[in-house]
Amino acid sequence: MIDLRSDTVTRPTEAMLKAMMSAPTGDDVYAEDPTVNRLQEELAGQFGHEAGLFCPSGTMANQIAINVHVSPGDEVLCHRLSHVYNYEGGGIARNSGASVRLVDEPHGAMPASVIQAEINPADSHFARTSLVCVEDTVNKGGGAVQSLAMLAEGSAASRAAGLPFHLDGARAWNALRKTGEDWKRYGTLFDSISLCLSKGLGTPAGSVLLGSRDFIEEAHRTRKVMGGGMRQVGILAAAGLHAIEHHFDRLQDDHERASRIGALLSEHPAVLKVAPVETNIVIAQLTGGRPASELVEAQRTAGVLCSAFGPDKVRWVTHLDFGDDDLAQVLKSLEDWN
Ligand SMILES: *Cc1c(COP(=O)(O)O)cnc(C)c1O
Repeated sequence: MIDLRSDTVTRPTEAMLKAMMSAPTGDDVYAEDPTVNRLQEELAGQFGHEAGLFCPSGTMANQIAINVHVSPGDEVLCHRLSHVYNYEGGGIARNSGASVRLVDEPHGAMPASVIQAEINPADSHFARTSLVCVEDTVNKGGGAVQSLAMLAEGSAASRAAGLPFHLDGARAWNALRKTGEDWKRYGTLFDSISLCLSKGLGTPAGSVLLGSRDFIEEAHRTRKVMGGGMRQVGILAAAGLHAIEHHFDRLQDDHERASRIGALLSEHPAVLKVAPVETNIVIAQLTGGRPASELVEAQRTAGVLCSAFGPDKVRWVTHLDFGDDDLAQVLKSLEDWN
């Protein structure tokens, strides 16, 4: 089967496994794993932050960041399409006792004017707004890339209001590959960043949270509380170091293949609309209320796995284990479907 349900389904390459097998390790709960330390320092440096923290998953990295930034009863400003709101099991309320205020602009955008308008006044009637979360690329927004100008304005507006600006950068590398933006210039717009090594970069697991030294010290404590302290986890960090060096440039291939799928779908009579394909995610909405399950089933029969993404939407995600022969098979299967 060709699996396009997510970019998390990739297997480690031979070269990655080799890097993992030869990694020096130590006990990371004591901060003594040299490979984890190297990964954290390298990423912090690349994104212009003081420190980093290796976490088991992107969800945990986001939840730790939120927990460090907010107090119970506070409000987190995020987008209706965001992962922190939709796909983290209600973790903002459950882990941190905070509520959310949802922004609803197209494709997951969070413009400064909207951020400013949604920050509660300093008045005891209202919840205290204490964090602004943005996502780049926006998963539910079809892999949309946030413009640097908008992020810069959002960052300035948040900081002017005394609020930290957090990036859920599970696919930030896809955005950076697309825009060619300088990582440090981008990274310093945010007060904390979560990065997933197991999406486009193709490692078996792991995310890194970046921020100031004080923030990461608190995050280290919160990671322990959430049960995310791991021991000789340098084997996973080694996969991350390998992936940053060898799998960043090739993200362009994923973007090109996704764009080919998007182009074919946008001409298909049974497709009403395809979200603009900017990176490695394709989301198509079917015509006339045709259920997503119909196309998902047809794709499965043709040897392709994709996901229903709402009642009439289907999602494909391209990745490291999806090559040109696979692309040809997917394009053919969609041409044959009617
Ligand atoms: C995948 C993803 C995460 C983290 O997911 P995990 O499966 O917990 O690693 C966070 N945000 C976005 C936008 C994602 O796509």
